[in-house]
Amino acid sequence: MRRLRGIGVSAGIGAGRAVILIQRAQILRFSIPAALIHSEIARLEDARRRSSDQLDRIQIKLPGTDLGALFDAQRLMLDDPMLVPRAAAIIGEQRVNAEWALQQVFDHLASVFDSVEDPYLRERKGDLADVVGRLRMNLTPGGSGFRDVLGQCESPCVLVADELPPSIAAQLDWTKFQAFVTNAGSRTYHTAILARSLHVPAVVGLHDATEKIPPGTMILVDGEQGTVSIDPPPEAVGQAAATGRIGRRSTTQPAAPFRTSDGVKVLVEANVDLLGDAAFALAQGAEGIGLFRSELLLAGRPADAVTEEMQYEVYRQLLEDMSPAPVTIRTFDIDEDQLASGEQRRDTLWASGYEVPRSRLGLRSIRLTLKRRELLRAQLRALVRAAAHGHLRVLFPFVSGVDELREARSVLNEARQEIQARGETLHPLLVGVMIEVPSAAFTADLLAAESDFLTIGSNDLIQCCLAVDRTDERVSHLYEPLHPAILRLIRHIRRAALRRGVPLSICGEMASDPAVLALLIGLGLTQFSMTPAAIPLAQQVIQELDSRELRKIAAQVLRLSSAIEIEQCLTEGLTRTKVLGSEVE
Ligand code: PEP
Ligand code: MG
Repeated sequence: MRRLRGIGVSAGIGAGRAVILIQRAQILRFSIPAALIHSEIARLEDARRRSSDQLDRIQIKLPGTDLGALFDAQRLMLDDPMLVPRAAAIIGEQRVNAEWALQQVFDHLASVFDSVEDPYLRERKGDLADVVGRLRMNLTPGGSGFRDVLGQCESPCVLVADELPPSIAAQLDWTKFQAFVTNAGSRTYHTAILARSLHVPAVVGLHDATEKIPPGTMILVDGEQGTVSIDPPPEAVGQAAATGRIGRRSTTQPAAPFRTSDGVKVLVEANVDLLGDAAFALAQGAEGIGLFRSELLLAGRPADAVTEEMQYEVYRQLLEDMSPAPVTIRTFDIDEDQLASGEQRRDTLWASGYEVPRSRLGLRSIRLTLKRRELLRAQLRALVRAAAHGHLRVLFPFVSGVDELREARSVLNEARQEIQARGETLHPLLVGVMIEVPSAAFTADLLAAESDFLTIGSNDLIQCCLAVDRTDERVSHLYEPLHPAILRLIRHIRRAALRRGVPLSICGEMASDPAVLALLIGLGLTQFSMTPAAIPLAQQVIQELDSRELRKIAAQVLRLSSAIEIEQCLTEGLTRTKVLGSEVE
């Protein structure tokens, strides 16, 4: 048995097989049971096929160009027996996941490229990295990357990461992961605060745990002592399992409404993509649906194939399932490609050879549906009818100013008149605007004056405000929810909504990070909508917070000039004032 020593930041003992996550380089490594080797190799083969199709489509667009020749080379690499077949062999030999097998092959081939004299050949390492990156992306197509793969790990396990961003930590299944350890970190490290809220044993600041601990090894984490035992004696593991995690939170959550420790009521609703997710949202404690992404109904189908009647059935069911809780249904947030068939959608090619969705700033969302009025009108007719079955809020996405809101409202009026002309009764519904475009943020007072509620779509607001496409990995590090510009915008929107007496919520990913949630409460927000998996933790954290302290922290961070300073100040503030993570001091 070997023992590593770090900083114990969250008390308790947890044991399980190590799952290694190199978050910075996007590498995940874990062992798989023999029975899954076959399906893991099939997953890799699927990724190869998808990559191959993508390269074919790229080449069709670039015949005879230099860029085309570059992709010829990538094609050859993709089909080379030293790449995918070698990775498949590693999966079988080492019983590891496809991502890690691929990484090992890449490391080996990269070192071969490094050792060649010819500078032209040496540069081909970049192409290899590109091909491997494409394969990696295609291993979890359409998924949320790590989260999907982490969900497949065998229980019980312990996460060993270089660092663990709260956005990932908040959504992991902590009944499966018994503890976590990280290379990075200190006692006031953002994730350490989260660990204490989760009541998950954690040791941070281990520097090289991801290298010293082989995937699949049994490890025992003592969050009190700050130690990690590698290959501990079975008696110690048995004892840990019998004791259970010390300090682990009870699974019986008090019921809504949730209040901060000083009595401020905070509402937590769910972002739901599919009708079937509503039950899960309720089970997670959602007090309503703050965002239903209706465009998922169109996925892979021509828009006109999704009729008013089909939509009405879905919306009615959703409202009935959630009743009496409110349901916010966003009108289609699609772009032109999404209107086309699923196959054509991925054909967009960027000059560098990466595939990215067509510009977020083009004809999309409310702009597109206002041009395709019949599409919007049919959706609004379905919504007007569904309003009979519950508490409905209709939400217009990506609005950039009052003119669009007025036009959308006039289409809603047309839809109402059509329903009335059919002899059906009209029922009340609320109309709201998503604040995702900086121009909408700056005119929030004008939009609030003509709507029943506002909701901040922080995912797009951050992208648009900071001019960062977060799917472009070369700039994704600039995507900073805590950028001073974002916090100032949120403060501005909040003031506008307050002055007009219009309810304001936030439904972007931002709110699912507990520390950021605390800051948002400090900025005066009390209504949130997030991915259902993040709800129990958010509700638990809310009850540990003191809004008066949070207001002071918010005032302090608003005076700072960079996201890094803000994150540091926030983390220190939350630890110092014991509004969060007060167990270890
Ligand atoms: C947002 O932009 O914050 C949002 C919730 O919308 P989506 O993520 O669907 O673009
Ligand atoms: Mg959005």
